[in-house]
Amino acid sequence: SISLDGIGKSFGRTRVLKRISLDIRDGEFLTLVGPSGCGKSTLLRIIAGLELQDEGSVRIGDRAVDGLPPKARDVAMVFQSYALYPHMTVERNMAVPLVMRRLGALQRMPLLGRLAPGTERMRASIAADVRKVALALGIEPLLARKPGQLSGGQRQRVAVGRAMVRQPAVFLMDEPLSNLDAKLRVSMRAEIKELHAKLGVTFVYVTHDQAEAMTLSDRVALVIDGELVQIAPPQVLYNDPDHVNVAAFVGSPS
Ligand code: ATP
Ligand code: MG
Repeated sequence: SISLDGIGKSFGRTRVLKRISLDIRDGEFLTLVGPSGCGKSTLLRIIAGLELQDEGSVRIGDRAVDGLPPKARDVAMVFQSYALYPHMTVERNMAVPLVMRRLGALQRMPLLGRLAPGTERMRASIAADVRKVALALGIEPLLARKPGQLSGGQRQRVAVGRAMVRQPAVFLMDEPLSNLDAKLRVSMRAEIKELHAKLGVTFVYVTHDQAEAMTLSDRVALVIDGELVQIAPPQVLYNDPDHVNVAAFVGSPS
């Protein structure tokens, strides 16, 4: 579960999040929607530990994580601008989080490729995990390429794959499908839905796509101008908005 209690955040004089309080239960798929600039990405980054809130606290599971770095939070984030390492192959991009974690105490060892002989088995098992996810996402033929040799949509699938191989307790996904064409978006949406059903992990997801929010979410939270305006199952939010702002954002029912 994730518990946000009175989260506030300003950049300079601009208050971008205003006392956001929200409880997300274990295994829930929660989607954040709202106009561009309303604070969705900032909220995800605060949950991930990539940004520090000015007010309030974040709990993940049964611990307060305020002040903990991202890697200590058991979350995986897929960014709006997928951020792959340009100099590494797809396979290494996907393997990096696993390598980091399994090396643990051996952190000073060089990454993949120059590992000591005793770690050969670890390397094989990481490669197998990466391949399994790559097959599921249809990017297995791309494993030897570098991000510069991929289309935007392929890069985005790699970024989703990199989050999947880590099997974290919480997935934070910031418009992970926005660069895909319509057909791929529908199949990736099914992939994410299946992942959620299979792993039962918690998702906090951001999208502008109403169909995506409708099919994936247990609840949708609408943020406008840094405030949580309504949180409800998608059918309720989209068909029976309880606030004039909500109706204006989602469009009035026809
Ligand atoms: P979009 O749907 O366009 O991705 P968003 O809801 O994700 O928008 P955020 O990226 O969270 O919006 O940004 C919220 C506000 O905070 C915006 O006005 C943005 O310009 C501002 N902002 C975000 N990051 C910073 C930063 N590092 N420094 C200054 N202002 C920032
Ligand atoms: Mg954003």
